[in-house]
Amino acid sequence: MQPFGTAALIVAALAAPLAGVQAVPGHVVPGKAPALSESALGSQRVLNALVSQHGEGQRLRIERGLKQVRAFWRKEDGDGQAFEAFARAQFAGDAKALDALFGRLEFVLESYFGHALEIGRDFRWHTELDLGPMLPVDELLSGYDPGAHFTEDAFASKLAFVVLLNFPLSDLEQRLKEGEGWTRRQWAEARLVDLFSKRIPAEVNQAFAEASGRAERYIASYNIWMHHLVDAKGQRLFEPKKRLLSHWNLRDELKSRYAQGPAGLGHQRSIQKVMERIVTQTIPAAVIDNPLVDWNPFTNEVKAATVQDSDRPVPAGFQPSGAPEPDTRYQVLRDCFLAARQADPYSPGAPTHMARSFNEGRQLPEARVQQMLETVCGSPLVKQVAQVIERRLGRKLEPFDIWYNGFRPGAGLDEAKLDALLRAKYPTAAAYKADMPGLLKGLGFSPERAAWLASRIEVDPARGSGHAMGAQRRADNAHLRTRVGRDGMDYKGFNIAVHEMGHNVEQTFSLVNVDHWLLNGVPNTAFTEALAFVFQAQDLKLLGQPLPDAKALAEKTLNDFWGTYEIAGVGLVDTAVWHWMYDHPDATAAQLKEAVLGISRSVWNRYYAPVLGQKDCVLLGIYSHMIHSFLYLPDYSIGHMIAFQIEHEVEKTGKLGETFERMATQGRLTPDLWMQRATGKPVGPEALLEATAKALTSLRY
Ligand SMILES: [Zn+2]
Repeated sequence: MQPFGTAALIVAALAAPLAGVQAVPGHVVPGKAPALSESALGSQRVLNALVSQHGEGQRLRIERGLKQVRAFWRKEDGDGQAFEAFARAQFAGDAKALDALFGRLEFVLESYFGHALEIGRDFRWHTELDLGPMLPVDELLSGYDPGAHFTEDAFASKLAFVVLLNFPLSDLEQRLKEGEGWTRRQWAEARLVDLFSKRIPAEVNQAFAEASGRAERYIASYNIWMHHLVDAKGQRLFEPKKRLLSHWNLRDELKSRYAQGPAGLGHQRSIQKVMERIVTQTIPAAVIDNPLVDWNPFTNEVKAATVQDSDRPVPAGFQPSGAPEPDTRYQVLRDCFLAARQADPYSPGAPTHMARSFNEGRQLPEARVQQMLETVCGSPLVKQVAQVIERRLGRKLEPFDIWYNGFRPGAGLDEAKLDALLRAKYPTAAAYKADMPGLLKGLGFSPERAAWLASRIEVDPARGSGHAMGAQRRADNAHLRTRVGRDGMDYKGFNIAVHEMGHNVEQTFSLVNVDHWLLNGVPNTAFTEALAFVFQAQDLKLLGQPLPDAKALAEKTLNDFWGTYEIAGVGLVDTAVWHWMYDHPDATAAQLKEAVLGISRSVWNRYYAPVLGQKDCVLLGIYSHMIHSFLYLPDYSIGHMIAFQIEHEVEKTGKLGETFERMATQGRLTPDLWMQRATGKPVGPEALLEATAKALTSLRY
């Protein structure tokens, strides 16, 4: 589950509304010139004036501050005179003035973000909570975001320029090199300036939102009607009415067929073929989300459907065309690239989408991420785990076995018994709230800590499956949204509630107990997810049930390893495709398609074909995220690695409460520094690989 509204998320969203890209020399990047020239702002004169006002000792700070302001100052912000008057009035010329300014800004920003979050939470109160029927106005209210115009307003009011004039911008390289020696205040200043490291015009943000919306809609309607897949003999393998969204439902359907053993093979091969047709765009356009056409994905033959599988009858004499989808998939991706690239000139510190995604979003250099993904894909453990899977399946692996799901971590659980136990224990959300101090003690927090945490977490009845919503002001509380059915909470609900409670505890420690408000949160979402999983893994213990045995834990580890291997390759493809688009900004959709196919094949041939066969397979290109999520895919593998590192640390200390609190109160450092201080090592795949090797041994493979 995604946590909602942590400071980290809001701040990151505001600091990086777009993914980044560098202006490509020789290509005109659309957009206005972002700043006024140095001479127009009378820079040397202003510098001299400020130095004589504040003394030689401040020269370097003044130079830096003026340069930072100049990079974002536009005509509408004022002429040279206005620039000078602003700089004279707002430069904090000694340590005392700077401390006072820093304190004032931290105070108002906590108030702004904290209250904006509360207003948004109230506007969505009745859409998110199960409190009776919604009013027509609720949908309208839920779309309102009171923080949406923060950056724009801050530049217009010149608040952003006050920050840029007085505090240093820094990039990831500098943070990685010097950050270890920084004071907490220096880290807090870095987070403060991050808020204003780019000034993207509203029309560029709008273009980005539109491209993103189009991509979402394209993906959201990309369904395949499975009963209309036919084989050479005209037989239908799949049940009527099955309408599967690419790629999620197709992949999950493929996974579910392992339960049938060899009888599911035909289904799995068909789904792989469908996916390949989508990636190569040889899929007939007529079969997309259309129950009126029968299709043999192997021969690519289409016919008018001979069975009616929806409320739409097949028209008499209907002759579907076999014409392929006209590279729409890649046109949509290309439009996303062009929209993202428009932000480049307004984001001087991270002037490409890749830079914004890796350096600002993840705060991990791209080269390191790539190396981590390749370490997993190229690990000798892949072959060993593949052998285990082959033995279990009793056949050679095929490409679709990247989605093998036969490792069984949770086998043997009597869920009906647990449902009954939980329904009696938690008939309402209030009953769960009342028991929270006991649950937290059960997890290993001291009675005093448990009581304090429970007093900071509200429990609300959710409409959906549940989520955790942190606060943004220290005087406000976190909210645990949990699903309680009419007859009480069931085991699934409890399992999720414990996970969300992990988010809430992290949110509480990382907001209330972090020394600087500006440093509240964790480095990125993978960290809060990993911490939440630490809680979730203990849910049976909280119910007095036996914990999973060593075999079940080993199965879980192999499952996670295989999943990381699969998604790491997808992340490598996603990253390489964005580079290709930057290198070929004028490419057509057809050229982009060929590039994606080439990249998918090359990653496959290197890391997957030796294990799963079928040289030149393009399956790694099927993820929908690649089309509409702007270079998001590497996050999944990094998330798995981080989870293993954090779990390993908790296991090593044997003290969940203390270890959790120590880790969660560090604040939003870079991921590597956070992990270094939490576990003694930077972010990396080693913990995952060690656990996998151990799991193979313990299962005696
Ligand atoms: Zn979660």
